[in-house]
Amino acid sequence: MNIDLANYKVWFLTGSQHLYGPHALGEVQRHSQQIAQSLDASSRVPVRVVQKPVLTTPEEIRDVVLAANAAPDCIGLVAWMHTFSPAKMWIAALQRLQKPLLHLHTQFNEEIPWSSIDMDFMNLNQSAHGDREFGHIAARLRLRRKVVVGHWTDGDVQDAIGVWSRAAAARQDAQTARIARLGDNMREVAVTEGDKVAAQACFGYSVSGYGVGDLVEHIDAVSDADVDALCAQYDDQYEMSAPLQRGGPRRTSLADAARIELGLRRFLEQGRFVAFTDTFENLHGLKQLPGIAVQRLMAEGYGFGAEGDWKAAALVRAAKVMAAGLAGGTSFMEDYTYHFAPRDAQVLGAHMLEICPSIAAARPSCEIHPLGIGGKDDPVRLVFGAPPGPAVNATVVDLGDRFRMVLNEVDVIAPAEPLSRLPVARALWKPRPDLKTSAAAWIYAGGSHHPVFSQALRAEHFEDLADMWGIELAVIDADTRLRRFKQVLRWNDAGVFPRSEYL
Ligand code: MN
Repeated sequence: MNIDLANYKVWFLTGSQHLYGPHALGEVQRHSQQIAQSLDASSRVPVRVVQKPVLTTPEEIRDVVLAANAAPDCIGLVAWMHTFSPAKMWIAALQRLQKPLLHLHTQFNEEIPWSSIDMDFMNLNQSAHGDREFGHIAARLRLRRKVVVGHWTDGDVQDAIGVWSRAAAARQDAQTARIARLGDNMREVAVTEGDKVAAQACFGYSVSGYGVGDLVEHIDAVSDADVDALCAQYDDQYEMSAPLQRGGPRRTSLADAARIELGLRRFLEQGRFVAFTDTFENLHGLKQLPGIAVQRLMAEGYGFGAEGDWKAAALVRAAKVMAAGLAGGTSFMEDYTYHFAPRDAQVLGAHMLEICPSIAAARPSCEIHPLGIGGKDDPVRLVFGAPPGPAVNATVVDLGDRFRMVLNEVDVIAPAEPLSRLPVARALWKPRPDLKTSAAAWIYAGGSHHPVFSQALRAEHFEDLADMWGIELAVIDADTRLRRFKQVLRWNDAGVFPRSEYL
């Protein structure tokens, strides 16, 4: 599965009016084209940027927005008022807008030409007040949108547009995403539950359950030749532990794992699924809990949630779309165990098996070890650590009346000592601002123990996505103070977030 963000388009809209005459409007059109082309060519903006003709009447504005709503490859609109575009002209269109909106507050000219500036220049370069008129109507209509300020050649401006376009691509992907649940949730677990109808209305994705037998059928149909070929691929790609090597005593278990991967892949492809869950409590007919299979599918871009956690699977998939082409990996994760050293507290993140090798600092080793749960054969898994550097953990939970995203900025560090006896993939991090504040805030917010962990994405990606989904976002970062954080949660509980503002 390849995620190609160049398949997505954002439309570049430029607002004006007829007051300035045809000559000025011609200039506006040329400037608009130049800006759109430069954003389209920018490596910081991964999607295509398509310029639309300058908009001067309510009818034109409404028509282009309705066309954007209907265009499947249009994932959002960038709007800029080169001149003054009286904003009542935008009301009917913005009321009908169903795609994400970025308000680019820029100006064609970077600097004031001190010696030559005259009224012709003033007539043309009016974004400073034209965009404020547009901003007013967007605020008045309570539109969720991203406002980006600065000259269009500025790297930070292009980067902010790029981040937003990644979120818009993830939103578009989620609109039609199909998520398969193999087995149900882990029994009695609360946070992996949720309202799948509300989720579909809010995020778009559908979640459907399948018996493990539906998967086993595909696994049984896999040919021995395909299994051998995949085992040879494992030999090439990973450090194979001695028992799993060709001729080793556990080579049969490696073949079982490869067969599961091939069957699972076929099941997902046939159902056009982009994310999936399984659970160790429903493994009937499977020889092992899928380990390496899940890890490798995640590395290709599939979303995954363990223990039936379909919200985690959906968010991992969204993060995979947002992160396409960026350096650094993205994985399903679990806060596993703590290092509660005074002033140096750390979190060891891992899972029983299912951590994505996209976050591996070095070539993973392929190993087999017993698993205390599930009652099946020992599962094969990839073992590795994540490289040091900034990362984020994010989750979406169902609070009953709404969805809340919780996000924590963290710093991945190298372990003080090698974890030579730990048989699972992991990442070690220090949460910002510190473990005590971060964990307390996360727990007050009701965040799950199954975040998506990413070293490719920043808080801004998830912030833009939460805004597009119209859901609450609680950020825990270096500036978080617990008393204020609790207060914000209480304000949000006062009912400012309906199920979805996009309905
Ligand atoms: Mn778990």
